[in-house]
Amino acid sequence: MVAETKGLARAREIYQDRPRRAKELKAEGKKIVGYPCIYSPSEMMTALDLVPYRIFGDMKEPTAEADRGLPAAFCPIMRSCLHLGLKGSYDFLDGMVVAHSCDAQEKTVHVWECLISSPYFHFLDVPGTVHKASQDYFKEGLKDLKKTLESFAGKELSSEKLKRAIEAHNQQRSLVREMYELRKPDPPLISGTETLQVIKALMSIPVEEGNELLKQVITEVKERKDGPQKKPARLLIWSSTIDDISLIEIIETAEANLVVDDHCGGTRAYWTDVKLTEDPIDGLAYHYLVELRCPRTYMDAVYGETSKDYMADLESRFGYIKDYAKGWNVNGVILQSVRYCDCHGFEAPQIKDYLDSLGLPNTYLEHDYSEGALAALRTRVQAFVEMIG
Ligand code: SF4
Repeated sequence: MVAETKGLARAREIYQDRPRRAKELKAEGKKIVGYPCIYSPSEMMTALDLVPYRIFGDMKEPTAEADRGLPAAFCPIMRSCLHLGLKGSYDFLDGMVVAHSCDAQEKTVHVWECLISSPYFHFLDVPGTVHKASQDYFKEGLKDLKKTLESFAGKELSSEKLKRAIEAHNQQRSLVREMYELRKPDPPLISGTETLQVIKALMSIPVEEGNELLKQVITEVKERKDGPQKKPARLLIWSSTIDDISLIEIIETAEANLVVDDHCGGTRAYWTDVKLTEDPIDGLAYHYLVELRCPRTYMDAVYGETSKDYMADLESRFGYIKDYAKGWNVNGVILQSVRYCDCHGFEAPQIKDYLDSLGLPNTYLEHDYSEGALAALRTRVQAFVEMIG
C-alpha cells in the first residue's frame, strides 16, 4: 500500500496511530514482532522478513490493568506497557523478543508471558558488564535467539541475509545521524518534537520503509522556510525513554530549542553502526552489549580494580555527552528520569558531577510518566531556561 503523505506529515501520521501500518502489513501476510527495548536486535527479525515493532507505553492513560501483575511502586513505563498489553492494544503482535535490559523490564515481560498469550516469545538475557566473558555469553544468547526465530519464521537465517539486514539498519543509523546534523545550525532546521515523531515512526515500520521516510524528511527539512525559531537556550536532554511529544513540547514552548538528546527514543539506538564481521553475530554481540550507551550496562567493569580516579571514570563513561554538547553548541542540560527507574536514578548524580565539572548548567527532573506530571515539569523547565537566559 502506497502512503498518501510523505516526510514529516507521514511521520506525524504514524506517530499518532502507530498500530495502523502494522495492521496493514499483517493483513498482507507479514508477522509483527514486538520488542520493548533497543537491546533486542531488530536486524535478526528484519533478516527473516519479520517486522520489528517497538512496544511503548502511553503516559496519557492510567495504568489500572497493570495492578494485576505489578506493584504500584514500579517503573511507570513498564506498568503502562503491561497495561496496554493486558487491555489488548498489542493484540496484533505475532510474537515478542524481549531483552533483559533492566530488572523492571525482566519482571514485566515474564508477567506479560504468563498473562498474554502469543505464538512466539523469546527472552534474551543481556549481561550487565562488557568484558570478554560477558561478550561470549551474550553471543551464545544471540545464537539461541537465532534458532527460535528461525523456527518461528519457518526459514533459515543465513549469514548473507543477516549481513544484508545489518546493512539496511546501518543505513538507517546513518540517515538518523544525518537528521540530527540538521539540528546543529542556530536555529535548528528540525525541532525535537518532529524528531521524536520520526524516531517513533521508524520503530513502527519495516526498515526499508523507514529509510525512505528519513530521506523524505531530510530533503523536506533542508528546503522548507518555516522551521524552528532561534531561541537563547540550546538544550540537551539525557533521559529514560521519552515516547510522548508532550515532554518535548514543554521545552520547545519555553525559550529553548531541544537540539540533541541521549535516550532510547532518540540517539541511543542509532549512534554507532554494527560492524560487518565475518560471522555477523559477532558484530551484533559487540554492538548491542558494548556500544549501546544506556545506564543499564556497567561500562567501566575492570577485573581486579580496587580503586578508581573518580573524574577519569566520569570522563570515560560520559565523555560522549561532552561531544554532544560541543557538537550541538549546547548551553544547558536537562537530566530526566521516571520515578522508580534505578538505572537512570543511580546514574544521574554522577552525570551531574560531570556536567558541573564542564561548567554546563543542568537540572534533574523526575516524574511519574503521567499527564498529571506535566504542569510541574513545565514550571521547572521554564525556571531552568530563564536561569540560562
Ligand atoms: S525507565 Fe528505567 S526501569 Fe523503566 S524500563 Fe527503562 S531502564 Fe528500566
